[in-house]
Amino acid sequence: MPKVKTNRVNYPEGWELIEPTLRELQAKMREAENDTHDDQGYADRNLIAKWKKPGYERLCCLRCMQPRDHNFATTCVCRVPKHLREEKVIECVHCGCRGCASGD
Ligand SMILES: [Zn+2]
Ligand SMILES: [Zn+2]
Repeated sequence: MPKVKTNRVNYPEGWELIEPTLRELQAKMREAENDTHDDQGYADRNLIAKWKKPGYERLCCLRCMQPRDHNFATTCVCRVPKHLREEKVIECVHCGCRGCASGD
């Protein structure tokens, strides 16, 4: 049986399965774009929330506590207390922090 030609856009196979997900993502991206003026404030709120936790009172930025951003799957060197560090003078590659472990 010959294929019926239609004017429909030729979507890749399986398209109807992923289409709802894609539409959802697009909607979320649009939301995020509308939200940009708010992003900085949101990051700050998260950081301030961390300062209330023991050991994070001097956290310089949220990035420095993300294991996935660092070479050895640990937190940033600036989070290591001075007496545990091998190098005495450090500077964080992310934010220039020279040490924000509480107790330094
Ligand atoms: Zn730091
Ligand atoms: Zn750091």
